[in-house]
Amino acid sequence: MKTKCPVCGNDIQLPKGTVINDTIDCEECGTELEVISVNPPIVSQGFADDEDEDWDD
Ligand SMILES: [Zn+2]
Repeated sequence: MKTKCPVCGNDIQLPKGTVINDTIDCEECGTELEVISVNPPIVSQGFADDEDEDWDD
């Protein structure tokens, strides 16, 4: 299963056994993507920027 990163357009390979609500990190941009559908495979930026939190990394 393959889809595209909604952020950078990179091809995302969904691992076998991926289920809805799984999260996948885009290898290209590092965005954490939430699987919202597996057939067809669709991912979405899981955590919208609604809250302007500071992330200490
Ligand atoms: Zn990406």
